[in-house]
Formats: sequence, structure tokens, C-alpha cells
Amino acid sequence: MSFTQLGLSDNLMKAIDKQGYKTPSPIQEKAIPVILSGQDVLAAAQTGTGKTAGFSLPVLERLGKGNHPKGNHVRALILTPTRELAAQVEQNVRELSEFTPLNTTVVFGGVGINPQMKRLRKGVDILIATPGRLLDLHQQNAVKFDQLETLVLDEADRMLDMGFIHDIKRIIKLLPKERQTLMFSATFSETVTALAQTLTRDPVKIST
Ligand code: AMP
Repeated sequence: MSFTQLGLSDNLMKAIDKQGYKTPSPIQEKAIPVILSGQDVLAAAQTGTGKTAGFSLPVLERLGKGNHPKGNHVRALILTPTRELAAQVEQNVRELSEFTPLNTTVVFGGVGINPQMKRLRKGVDILIATPGRLLDLHQQNAVKFDQLETLVLDEADRMLDMGFIHDIKRIIKLLPKERQTLMFSATFSETVTALAQTLTRDPVKIST
């Protein structure tokens, strides 16, 4: 299997080449076609398996067909449990979207909120966020979700372990019901499966 066979556009293929990815990893081979088709996903994937590119590439591909959002609107939201992971995901998304017109922003707590509010004002195609700061920004009217197309929960099991369940539920209530939801987790615990039932619609289960 090659990346070309997965049906990704030239601008993404260029970034894949630049990053030196030769062939898709197992999780990428399975997840990319399903996500491109628009279905929800519940995927078991550990760090180091290429899971970030596994959801980022098809999300970028699908966003490529829409228009850049107006002020404060977000088209794709990637939630992560920690700021370290948020920064890593943003770096990966930035690399893979280098040859697209899509813009990316990351927001997390522990740093000033004003620069984040300023960046959100321009409208964001892909927002990577930790739950608490995202809720703070929403409370200040700095982020709008009515144009949201895709939600990704990265390391969902860790988010639950860290006690983010209430924040996640509050965020979900703010999002359009009509959306694509992708959940990635190292394990499929009972709590992860229960969360998936409330967040996703008939998800395709993927493990490698
Ligand atoms: P992740 O599991 O998403 O944290 O990715 C682990 C590392 O693998 C990151 O440094 C990626 O840039 C890299 N990577 C992702 N997909 C591929 C691939 N298909 N071939 C080679 N490296 C990859």
C-alpha cells in the first residue's frame, strides 16, 4: 500500500514526501480511507504508530474542499489531554498542511490567553486545544463552533484518566450534532467505549 493509493491530494503528497514518510503505517492504512469517507471512527492506537498523521491527513484532505472560516470560527477541533501533546500534534499538522491554504492554531492553559484570542479572531481551519483553556476561550466568546465539521479526541483514555470527562461533555454540548467525530485511544476501556457511545455515530472500530 502507498500513500498515493489512499487517494490523498498532491499538496498533501508533497508534505508526506518532505517529511520522508515512505509508506503508510498500519493505523494510517486502516484509518485514512474510513475518515475520508466521512464516517466516525473509534481507533486503538499507541503513540509512535503514526496516529497523528493517521487522522490529520484525511481531516486536511476533507477540509481542503471548503472555504476558510470567518472570524472566531473553527472547522476542525482536535482535543488533547496535555499541552505537550497539543504542541506535538500542532507541529505535525503544520508540517502536513504546509502546501495547503489551511491555517492551524494551538491553545492551552498556563500561558497568556490574549495572544490566543487574537489568533482566533482570524478564523481557524484546525484548532488543537486542551479542554480547560478551550472552555475559557469559549466563555469569552473567542471561539465559535457553529461551522465545526470535525472533532478529534486524541488519547481519549488519558483524557478520562486525567478527569476531563466533565469538560469534554461541556464542550460536546457546544458543537453541532451534524459533524464527523474521531476518537483515538491507547486502550478501549469500558469508560472509553461509553464515551464513544455518547460522542460518535455508528463508529467504525479500528485496531492494528
Ligand atoms: P505519532 O504516533 O503520531 O506520535 O507519530 C510518531 C512519529 O512517526 C512522528 O514523528 C511522525 O512524524 C512519524 N510518522 C508518522 N507517519 C509516518 C510514516 N508513514 N512513515 C514514517 N514516519 C511516520
